[in-house]
Amino acid sequence: MNIIDLRSDTVTHPTPEMREAMARAEVGDDVFGDDPTVNRLQELAAQKMGKEAGLLVCSGTMGNLIGVLAHCQRGEEAIMGDKAHTFLFEQGGVSALGGVFPHTIPNQADGTLKFEDIEGAIRGEDVHFPVSRLVILENTHNRCGGVVLTAEYTRQVAALAHKHNLRLHLDGARIFNASAAQGVNVKELSEPADSITFCLSKALCAPVGSVLCGTQDFIYRARRIRKQLGGGMRQAGVLAAAGIIAIEKMSIRLHEDHTRARRLAEGLAGLKGFSLDFGMPPSNIVFVTMDPFVKSTAKEAADILDREGIKVGVVGEHRFRLVTHYWIDDRAVEKTLAAFSGLSRA
Ligand SMILES: *Cc1c(COP(=O)(O)O)cnc(C)c1O
Repeated sequence: MNIIDLRSDTVTHPTPEMREAMARAEVGDDVFGDDPTVNRLQELAAQKMGKEAGLLVCSGTMGNLIGVLAHCQRGEEAIMGDKAHTFLFEQGGVSALGGVFPHTIPNQADGTLKFEDIEGAIRGEDVHFPVSRLVILENTHNRCGGVVLTAEYTRQVAALAHKHNLRLHLDGARIFNASAAQGVNVKELSEPADSITFCLSKALCAPVGSVLCGTQDFIYRARRIRKQLGGGMRQAGVLAAAGIIAIEKMSIRLHEDHTRARRLAEGLAGLKGFSLDFGMPPSNIVFVTMDPFVKSTAKEAADILDREGIKVGVVGEHRFRLVTHYWIDDRAVEKTLAAFSGLSRA
């Protein structure tokens, strides 16, 4: 049976073209800076993001962790949304490993942080206070339903942070989705931030990796921290080869995933007992809530779908998350809708 896996866009396998490029990749020891394919990926990433330099890291979590540690000293604080991936889903690594204090402020429904909340969170000079050093934004915003931040908003937050001598880090795990959703060049969205992490393995089909981008100085510090965390990889060119295809080819087809996410959402919204948590999806993530009269729990419903070869994310007692990606075609969407329709009739 062909499994339809909607749990995440991280489940994407590398494409045949990627596997071929991986097999042929020219490699070297990247801890020595000797891997030509890694170097090519890092230059390409930096150029796309409008930054001086890039660094291949193992994951988005590692990219955000290294980014925060390269900006902040121990005891300094990073201001972030209370629904930020960095706050909710990264095991508090910035404090556990870096002694950085997370200062959360409310994420608005559209994924933004209010200017007055950011300004209110920035501390003045006082012996009692930690030093505020960093603001973190997330684009697209995962927990807010894949919503997108605009270039204008990002520029305004950067200006506010810089006015107070803080830096701005962008968790752009899905920044190419944000660019596709708005029809703007990705550089517009990344340039205002001092640093950005984006995932090669999410939506873009590469098997492993994220890239952290920023100034030469910042990336020099980031490279040292990556080594300290045990993330210095050797012949990583086999991974970077897939990453290059991810950036050059996969990033330009994401609007197809967005169209399918909308089709999926429309279909689900039309079924009795199902409602969209955030309305129509702006990108590739659909959150849907099921009335308990359909099935008592989302877990129970997910088990039934699983037996039909459909995997969905369970993110609450009655809530699902469905993510479209390269390996979800129109037929998969229709089959999923038919299965949900079966649930609501049973
Ligand atoms: C997935 C994700 C990450 C972390 O990426 P991993 O590669 O899974 O560690 C970070 N930020 C956001 C917004 C994400 O969706």
